[in-house]
Amino acid sequence: MKKFFKELFYFDILIYSKVVVGSMKKYLIIGFIILIILLTGSYFIFFNDKITLSLNGETNNKLEVFTEYKDPLISFKNHNKEIPKAKYILQEESNLDINKIGSYSTNYKIKYKNKDYSITRYFEIIDSTSPTLTVNTEEVQKDYCTKKISTKLEYTANDNYDGDLTDKILTEEKDDKLIISVSDSSNNKTTKELTIKYKDKPKDIFKLNGNSNINVAQNTTYKEQGVKYTDGCGNKIDKEIKTTGEVDTKTIGSYKITYEVDGKSLARVVNVYDPSTYKPTGKKIIYLTFDDGPNYYTSKILKTLDKYNVKATFFVTNQFPSYQKYIKEEYESGHAIAVHTLTHKYDIYTSVDTYLNDFNKMNEIIKEQTGSYTRLFRFPGGSSNTVSKSYNKGIMTELAKRMTEDGYVYFDWNVSSGDASGAGSTKIANNVINGVKKCSSCVVLMHDIKSTTANALDTILESLTQSGYTFATLNENSSTAHHHINN
Ligand SMILES: [Zn+2]
Repeated sequence: MKKFFKELFYFDILIYSKVVVGSMKKYLIIGFIILIILLTGSYFIFFNDKITLSLNGETNNKLEVFTEYKDPLISFKNHNKEIPKAKYILQEESNLDINKIGSYSTNYKIKYKNKDYSITRYFEIIDSTSPTLTVNTEEVQKDYCTKKISTKLEYTANDNYDGDLTDKILTEEKDDKLIISVSDSSNNKTTKELTIKYKDKPKDIFKLNGNSNINVAQNTTYKEQGVKYTDGCGNKIDKEIKTTGEVDTKTIGSYKITYEVDGKSLARVVNVYDPSTYKPTGKKIIYLTFDDGPNYYTSKILKTLDKYNVKATFFVTNQFPSYQKYIKEEYESGHAIAVHTLTHKYDIYTSVDTYLNDFNKMNEIIKEQTGSYTRLFRFPGGSSNTVSKSYNKGIMTELAKRMTEDGYVYFDWNVSSGDASGAGSTKIANNVINGVKKCSSCVVLMHDIKSTTANALDTILESLTQSGYTFATLNENSSTAHHHINN
């Protein structure tokens, strides 16, 4: 029995083992297959490289010129994990110049496990800063008449990139603004607007031509010079000016001429005086004298004197006999005639007789032209001349004494026009105009044989008549302006 059970037991294990082992074999095969699949997947997942190269920072960069740029470099990863720098070689190639406007690039090249990788970063260097513009004023003035800007403008322009741009400054007027602008080479523009202010409209001008007080010798012609009526810009205002009053030069007296327009009025007083009794009243009196003629230029001088109604004194000669008739014309126009010399040669100073011979011959010509002799005269060279010394020592002293005793009056001068020594017309005019400021009774030396004098006379008379001076002819009682006798 015991043996039976023993045998049964072994039999069961045997049967059981056969069953279990048989089923285990099947599971092992399945497990093995799963393991292979897992290992293959892991290899693809964990052991194959996945490299990425990317830029840190921007790919396309727009940078302001002169600003600092710090390269943020690249990211080099395998399976999203940064590869240590020691494991690869990085080469950078770049032409970037931050100080110069332009397009640039930086190329990054990597060698890793015998493979090449590269990536590029791009740059645009720009200037977006506008130039600075300085102008000395905020407001400019414009002239009402000329419509031109009268304010002196001073401006400068400077650019961070181009430097001094003052030459490139443009100005333009628009409405009531003056626009000042400047652009740099990158077309950055700076503009300043200045306000344009018009200067006040100038006042109208209403004034007398010539002096407000004029003295006119009786029986001479008087020409009223009228008035000037213009706007402040000098344009004539075309309006009828009411004029009252008239001058009768035949009758001695004081005449008033009045001008009226637009509620404004002006008056001029014209005094007609008797030239034979006229005495200076302390007011400046001017004796214009002309020596050495008559000659070709005498006619023009007479016309100019007439224009201003000014009377003068002619110290005549016979140097130009064909012009003798002008002595008559001078006389008839109200000018005074006096002897200068017949020949105007200095040998007349050889003796008293030679002098008197010359003098009397000239006075004869004067009588022929005017109907009477004159007692007025001027020594050739003036009483102060020293040329006479070489002809006769002391002759001037002797002649001055003798002529005065005989009742003649000689005149020198205290204002010289400088025309005899070659001054031009402008200089002659200035010499006279300035010269008469220094005397109250002025004897002005000029020569009617000079074109320069003939041309200067209009300027002289325009100035002197407007200064209100009185003109007179020399007579026996006038100021003689004697010089010191040197011989
Ligand atoms: Zn002379």
